[in-house]
Amino acid sequence: MPARLYKAASADRWRFIVLYLFMTFGLLIAAGLFLHEARVIISDSLLDEDAVAVLSQANRVLHDLENAETGQRGYLLTGDESYLQPYRQGVRDLDDSVLRLHRVVAGDELSEALVDAVEHVKTDKISELAQTVELVRTGHSNDALTLIRTNEGERYMDALRDDMGQLLDRWQQKRKAAARDAHERLVFGTAALAVVAVLVGCLMIYTLHIQRRAFAKVHAWSAALDREAAHDPLTGLPNRRRLLSAIDALNAQLHFAPERRIALLFLDIDGFKSVNDTLGHSAGDALLRRLADALREATRQSDVLARVGGDEFVLLAPDCGDDAQLRELSERLIRCVRVVGEREFDGRFEIGVSIGIATFPDRVQSVEKLLDVADAAMYVAKRGGRSTWSFGVLSEQHPSNVVRLKR
Ligand code: GH3
Ligand code: MG
Repeated sequence: MPARLYKAASADRWRFIVLYLFMTFGLLIAAGLFLHEARVIISDSLLDEDAVAVLSQANRVLHDLENAETGQRGYLLTGDESYLQPYRQGVRDLDDSVLRLHRVVAGDELSEALVDAVEHVKTDKISELAQTVELVRTGHSNDALTLIRTNEGERYMDALRDDMGQLLDRWQQKRKAAARDAHERLVFGTAALAVVAVLVGCLMIYTLHIQRRAFAKVHAWSAALDREAAHDPLTGLPNRRRLLSAIDALNAQLHFAPERRIALLFLDIDGFKSVNDTLGHSAGDALLRRLADALREATRQSDVLARVGGDEFVLLAPDCGDDAQLRELSERLIRCVRVVGEREFDGRFEIGVSIGIATFPDRVQSVEKLLDVADAAMYVAKRGGRSTWSFGVLSEQHPSNVVRLKR
């Protein structure tokens, strides 16, 4: 892996780690916050329930007191003992409801003080009621009326209503505050949730972006590797590996185009070594590049021109035409190589090319054998005087004697 790509990959890895840490911490903090808010909202709703209990219990106290007073008044006015029953019931219930009121306000100092005051006034009021009832029962109705006229009972009731009013006010305020607080927390929680969702969404989009960028880099690198693996670095032409896969691909396609005639021309430059020996390796390299360019220009784009060895090139022509066309092509390639040799060195070196030709399916019946047959035919062309071409034939009868050549 190139150092640049390696550095980018490790930077991306760190970016991923930091992003995931951010997301995890963000989500943990958000979860903690929501938990806290949820607990406060629950305690707000419990406070609301407490407030409802206090309010109803306070009303209960007033109601019981009213019952006791109604019974007392009925008895005082009529002397009918049946009125004593609601009076006594009211007194009994009152003790009970004040006790409950104590319980429901427990923990709130001010409310406890108010309930103490209520209880105190209630005791005075009940004793005033009991006193009047007792006076009537013992035949002192006038004394009872005198006691009532003092308005003492009315004052107790006013004091009790005043304390109770304060208590009710306090708990109504508490209830409103709890409802307001729960509402605000709900709004805040929803807004925070939306912000967290947007943030996490942005982080995820950014993560996807980094991931796609990393994939694109790896993809580009692997494409470059593939290109490198399939091309000759000196000339930029396809190499032997790429040629062999082109031959395989042609072989696989034969099923769909059985009438196809394929030619493979194996070229070996004549006299190349002398350039290397006389002018050095780099001059040889430069010549190879010029030859590759010239051969590429002299051939069709649909043909595969590959460099398969030092000064060896192969031309794979999937639709090659007849032998006359192949001869004409070989002559053109030979001329092309000569022209390059003369132009580069002003005729100091005799540069030419020997070409071996194999054709499928007439001379060679298997596409895989084209390369071997053309290679062998090229050697025959060399032996035949160089700067010439030769057709090779695969002999089925004598496979060990692979090539029989024709000019
Ligand atoms: P012939 O006419 O019989 O083909 O001989 P030749 O002088 O062309 O030499 P031959 O084909 O036998 O050998 C090719 C030489 O090419 C051998 C090797 O030193 C040289 N060679 C191989 N690869 C490279 C390369 O990448 N660059 C250069 N400059 N020379 C190379
Ligand atoms: Mg050569």
